[in-house]
Amino acid sequence: MSNIFELPSHEEPGRDWTATERERLERHAAEILAALGLDLETPGTRDTPRRFLQALYDATAGYDGDAKLRTLFPAERPEGVEGRHAQIVEGPIGFYALCEHHALPFHGRAHVGYVAGDDILGISKLTRLVRLYARRFTVQERLAEEIADGLVELAGARGVAVRLEAAHMCTAMRGVEEDGSLTVTTVWRGFYDEDPTLRSEFLTLTR
Ligand SMILES: [Zn+2]
Repeated sequence: MSNIFELPSHEEPGRDWTATERERLERHAAEILAALGLDLETPGTRDTPRRFLQALYDATAGYDGDAKLRTLFPAERPEGVEGRHAQIVEGPIGFYALCEHHALPFHGRAHVGYVAGDDILGISKLTRLVRLYARRFTVQERLAEEIADGLVELAGARGVAVRLEAAHMCTAMRGVEEDGSLTVTTVWRGFYDEDPTLRSEFLTLTR
């Protein structure tokens, strides 16, 4: 897990497509889109298979890692926040992910709370951390767990709280759920696991 922030993970083979592979994938995409009913012979849709593939490629860029995440802000703990109750809460951080069950988007807002260890992270780093894991095929629960574990790994946080609220297109677009319904996931690490006061403070700050 030590190099996930800086190196292409290559967990998923074939992110570096050759021109031949790309053409083949575009043909497959065209076949699927046409079978669903899309007319690919119009000026506006001729390039849709290529754009569709590229959009999915960009939306899953989290598999390529994020080198900049290792560049930590130096610890700048303000006076009087040494204690275990000194939590830092950031958010909302918007995110878009792809549900691994349907390959359709779920999107929403993340709030991240932590009790700093050696390092304090700026909001831009937290945004990068959320996106590193969101821009993949995933599920909401695992996304929250990975963000929490990433923050422990990256910054040595002594406690982490992650709250995600998201709308899932795989249910919303097909009318399975009421429009506007949100799924909420919360995970705790370290001090938050042990301390209900810290948890309720976090929840109050993020609602
Ligand atoms: Zn789904």
